[in-house]
Amino acid sequence: MKKMEMSEKATVGENDRKRETICIFGTGDLGRSLGMRLLQSGHPVIFGSRNPQNSTLLPSGAQVLTHADALKESKIIFLAVHRENYDFLLALSNLLDGKVLVDVSNNLRMNQYPESNAQYLSQLLPKAIVVKGFNTVSAWALQSGSLDANTQVFVCGDDDKSKQQVMDVARSLGLTPLDRGSLQAAKEMENYPLQLFPMWRLPLAIAFGLTVFFFVYCVVIDVIHPYVTKNRDVSYKLAISVPNRIFPNVSLILLSLVYLPGVIAAFIQLHRGTKYKRFPNWLDRWMLCRKQLGLVALAYAFLHVLYTFIIPTRISVRWRWIHSMIVESKMNKTMELSKVLSWRVDVYFALGMLGFGLYILLGITSFPSVSNAVNWREFRFVQSKLGHMTLLLCTAHATLFGWDRFLQSKWYRWGLPQAYMLAIVIPCVVLVLKLIQITPCVDRMIIRIRQGWERIPKTKQALV
Ligand code: NAP
Repeated sequence: MKKMEMSEKATVGENDRKRETICIFGTGDLGRSLGMRLLQSGHPVIFGSRNPQNSTLLPSGAQVLTHADALKESKIIFLAVHRENYDFLLALSNLLDGKVLVDVSNNLRMNQYPESNAQYLSQLLPKAIVVKGFNTVSAWALQSGSLDANTQVFVCGDDDKSKQQVMDVARSLGLTPLDRGSLQAAKEMENYPLQLFPMWRLPLAIAFGLTVFFFVYCVVIDVIHPYVTKNRDVSYKLAISVPNRIFPNVSLILLSLVYLPGVIAAFIQLHRGTKYKRFPNWLDRWMLCRKQLGLVALAYAFLHVLYTFIIPTRISVRWRWIHSMIVESKMNKTMELSKVLSWRVDVYFALGMLGFGLYILLGITSFPSVSNAVNWREFRFVQSKLGHMTLLLCTAHATLFGWDRFLQSKWYRWGLPQAYMLAIVIPCVVLVLKLIQITPCVDRMIIRIRQGWERIPKTKQALV
């Protein structure tokens, strides 16, 4: 019986909280959208405005009063006003005593001010309890209801009870509040909506740099060289042939760059004889964007596959086939099938297809929905073991493409090696280093270091 009464009380309490009146200062885009959602969730809403009489477009059911009158009606006030206009609050300082003031503001630039907007507000109004939150939710998302990508609401503040109250309001709107700790976290929260794909910048810059390099390189070797030396105009190669040289080469280098930092890190630990020293910053940064590097590499591999599929439909290719048939019939002679060439081409394609299959598997397991469903060992097995296997298959695919051309001087136009010859350098280095790393004696040492063992220098040993 008592239990029932208690649960009834809890429900009533919850409903009371849900129906708590919320005050919003500012009748702009965010204020209106937030007000509409709060009203839909059952909260009475009172707007505080500079011009209560002239406020239009407000959601029906909401009241509009002056700031001073509005804040008397509620304990929680959402401040949907830009930081530059906070000064008007000074006149309300006494009325805001003990009230929860939710700072939803963002800035135009990262680290625009020395302190966060929320900390500035807290210094401006020491009597109010400032909570930072809701700044990552856009007015448009609140209004249109398309909150799929925005359901998380970060909240931070120095007063736990007030923070909980704001988090309860977020829950009543169907949002998921995430407690980010004290008001110290406000600056990070304010910078968050201003970030533009931070983890993608380095991978995209590397991919762009490599694309430009290989484009210029292939144009020189495959288009300008035949024109200058044989007066042959093959500029049509710019549309398909040249891109289809760039895509696989950039893809292979990017894939090797996914695995290079791992082997560098292992050798650094081996050299230092400890894992308790920080890696250099550049290595940390590189390791953090390996997933993005891998996904860009997969995108290039995908383009390579698409471009390869259409090769038989190209006019220049069909012309070459027909031309060779005519030559054969004119000579009344059939060329013998080269078994070696057939083997080489078949194995070349087989390695490429297997490599691409594993490539896709790596891409799929990097999606959060899949990576969250596997345990750490399974994830490492796919990303590390199968990843190195993918690198091996793709490097072998490129090497077979070259075959004996590596040794024939005619392929070194103007003394320059072919693009794929350059592209396999880094993957080969990574594979050799990995091979050294997995030899039993080196592997055992790395495992010991990663389990906490440290090599003490002889000078220190003497002291001990
Ligand atoms: P807004 O459309 O420009 O509205 C700001 C409101 O502030 C005005 O409608 C006005 O309301 C009030 N105001 C303007 N000057 C004032 C002054 N001198 N003194 C007092 N009040 C003044 O801006 P918003 O887009 O709603 O953004 C409001 C805050 O929410 C900003 O800090 C923004 O960074 C943040 N935010 C916005 C979004 C978004 O999607 N828009 C998303 C997250 C966070 P009255 O005329 O009624 O006084």
